Amino acid sequence: MTRRWIQSGALAGGGAALLSLGLFIIVSGSDTNRLVPGLLMYLGLAVASGAGYGWLLWAHTDRYPFAVMGVLYGLLSWVFFGLVLVPVFAGLGPRWNAVDAAGQFPLLMVYLLQGALLALALRVLEATGLLRLMATTRDTAEHPTVTRRVVILGGGFAGVTTAQELEKLLGETGDVEITLVSRTNHLLFTPMLAEVTAGGVEAQHISPPLRAFFRRVQVMRGEPAEIRIAENRVLVQSGSQNITDLTYDYLVLALGAVPNFFGNTALEQYAFTFKSLADAIHIRNHVIDCLERADSEPDPMNRRTMLTFVVVGAGFAGTELIGGLNDFVRGSLWYYKHLHNDDVTFLLVHPGEHILPELSTELARYAEKKMTDRGVTIRGNARVTDASLGRVSIGDEAISSETLIWTAGNLPNPLLKQIGCEMDNRGAVITDERLLVRGQHNIWAVGDCASIPDVVTGKKAPPTAQYALREAKTLAYNLCAVLNGREPMVFSHRSQGALAVVGHQTACAEVFGFKFSGLFAWLLWRGIYLSKLPTLEKKIRVLLDWVIDVFFPRDITYAPLIEERTEAAPAAGD
Ligand SMILES: Cc1cc2nc3c(=O)[nH]c(=O)nc-3n(C[C@H](O)[C@H](O)[C@H](O)COP(=O)(O)OP(=O)(O)OC[C@H]3O[C@@H](n4cnc5c(N)ncnc54)[C@H](O)[C@@H]3O)c2cc1C
Repeated sequence: MTRRWIQSGALAGGGAALLSLGLFIIVSGSDTNRLVPGLLMYLGLAVASGAGYGWLLWAHTDRYPFAVMGVLYGLLSWVFFGLVLVPVFAGLGPRWNAVDAAGQFPLLMVYLLQGALLALALRVLEATGLLRLMATTRDTAEHPTVTRRVVILGGGFAGVTTAQELEKLLGETGDVEITLVSRTNHLLFTPMLAEVTAGGVEAQHISPPLRAFFRRVQVMRGEPAEIRIAENRVLVQSGSQNITDLTYDYLVLALGAVPNFFGNTALEQYAFTFKSLADAIHIRNHVIDCLERADSEPDPMNRRTMLTFVVVGAGFAGTELIGGLNDFVRGSLWYYKHLHNDDVTFLLVHPGEHILPELSTELARYAEKKMTDRGVTIRGNARVTDASLGRVSIGDEAISSETLIWTAGNLPNPLLKQIGCEMDNRGAVITDERLLVRGQHNIWAVGDCASIPDVVTGKKAPPTAQYALREAKTLAYNLCAVLNGREPMVFSHRSQGALAVVGHQTACAEVFGFKFSGLFAWLLWRGIYLSKLPTLEKKIRVLLDWVIDVFFPRDITYAPLIEERTEAAPAAGD
């Protein structure tokens, strides 16, 4: 397939160059004899850069802004070829000054036209399926049938990265089929989930569709109904009736984790979970609803209950959530003429000495101070033990609140229990250091659902996106190795650090051993996570959301609901 894109790009590049130059000659009435010496070079460059452009489009799965890319290509070609390379070859030196560049303006039109035509030609080839057809005909001739199947369960960081890397490593090997099964049709970029709840970023902008990542991986939206490892089969349920029988040679478990209420059914019933896009939207709508009702509530006690928000757990998820929500609510109060800052309480409850246990005590203290200054009350060494309608119990103390958000614990996906593999006491599938599930020869596990030895620290790899991504890259390498009869490698990763936003343009960061806090750390957070957010389109959309957020107040419109549930770990005895 790669070769097809390059060849088509070269062909389209040459064609586009001839067409645009022809048009230029007709429109400008230029003397063709004068153009002939440079014509061959121009065509050669157009073919070469067209091939490069074809490859670029192939290498980037988010290929949709064809037109923009084409015009950009035209502009860059003009600067590189028109203003530098061609004049240099002609012995004139680069045309950097404004007068010379203005003299090359007609050439800019030619290059822009050429870029647009090149993009259009490739777009037509792809849209009509011709490109795929050419590739398939050739691929089928070389690799007649699928002989091996890889099934990946879970479309989070671990599953998607495994599939993506495997696709890259396998290149044009056509006899391996890869299927990714996921409950949702998007990848959720969890580090920005708190921003969705706080209304700083639109929900769809942090959740690129899974199908945008792949060329050959087949995406199946559904849930594994049964995993029969003795038969190398997974029965996948999509919709209420439809069951698909998937056989596999290699199975990857990447089903992540679920919220854990430690068997407390009251908490499970009354608390919001904070794990999925739907969770973020539910919380946001609920908070807006509390503000709306409180504004017309005459009884001050009821008003306080509506405006008391309790978040349990002070890891990254809980801390970032309460920091963002606190900013959102206090920043939106001016819409509500009967509400005042003093009516609002934000309570962060956690069992430890300090919040953000992943960071150093010094940074955690800094974060606590910043959050307290902004009106968040922090209750350390405390546990939420019970909840009912309008009431939350912290130890023996009862608090009136309509909002309890649970981020205090996760457990590996309980679905894994049905497989019958060896598990640790949390229910994570135990793997060896090559990510192969213990006691199995063709089942691998990655991410939050796996218990993976970390050869660097000698402990278990922590359940973070950073580790899930690295594990997935190693796993893809290992799968490719066993598919090609080579030795798999040992997983090892040294943590690059951690970053957390604590609200109001303030963050704490420990990166490669260096500690940062305040505005600089916040900018670092934004820069790093924006660069990690998949697909160019989503990056641009989030960037625009951030710019809009600077100039306009937070949006208090209810967000459209999506139906997607977060399951919790079953209560004890289930
Ligand atoms: C709010 C929040 C903020 C976070 N912030 C950070 C951070 O800043 N930095 C960091 O390193 N980590 C962070 N994390 C942790 C990080 O998100 C996880 O460690 C990471 O997502 C683990 O990747 P995974 O692929 O193993 O699991 P997940 O990303 O959870 O993916 C699991 C996938 O399996 C699918 N799935 C689950 N059950 C089924 C089923 N029955 N059938 C089909 N599909 C199913 C899910 O839909 C999902 O696609 C955060 C987590 C949360 C919740």
